[in-house]
Amino acid sequence: MPDRIVSAPLHTPPSAVAVFEAPWANPFYCLTDSSAGRYATAAELRTFLRTRRRMPPGWSDPGLLYPSDEQIRAELGGRDLACTCAEDEPCHGLVLLEVANPRPTTPDEPHPEGGTRFTVKRCCNGCGEVLGDVTAWEMHLAVHWSVPLPDVRDECPTCTPVAVAER
Ligand SMILES: [Zn+2]
Ligand SMILES: [Zn+2]
Repeated sequence: MPDRIVSAPLHTPPSAVAVFEAPWANPFYCLTDSSAGRYATAAELRTFLRTRRRMPPGWSDPGLLYPSDEQIRAELGGRDLACTCAEDEPCHGLVLLEVANPRPTTPDEPHPEGGTRFTVKRCCNGCGEVLGDVTAWEMHLAVHWSVPLPDVRDECPTCTPVAVAER
């Protein structure tokens, strides 16, 4: 599973894509060098990408050109994403990972030494259907910011039309 890794400029391993550079850098600026600032700007990019998905084809926020979902999937899918943010810091790379890769569903595995290794799953906010694993971004929010898992009804085949109509 591709991951968000930490790298300094010019030290990005060839297997990874540097997302602190154009065109992948976060277009939302962080005015304060703080975790809260980075969290806010990563969340802003996530909101922008989700909003754009509900707009008519060709829509673009005036003044904000950012690679399309298709470009993100084609160029970042399956790759590790390298950024200068520290390991536990909120990073827009986590948001890009979510868009670039389909939400995986990891089966529970029996552990060789007993017990079962299970991956935390994500359920639809509307009907409760299991939609796959919790993403790294969702986990980061829950662990570091006590933020409830974001609404994922628009990923649910049953609830999508309802979720879109409500917004
Ligand atoms: Zn970052
Ligand atoms: Zn649902």
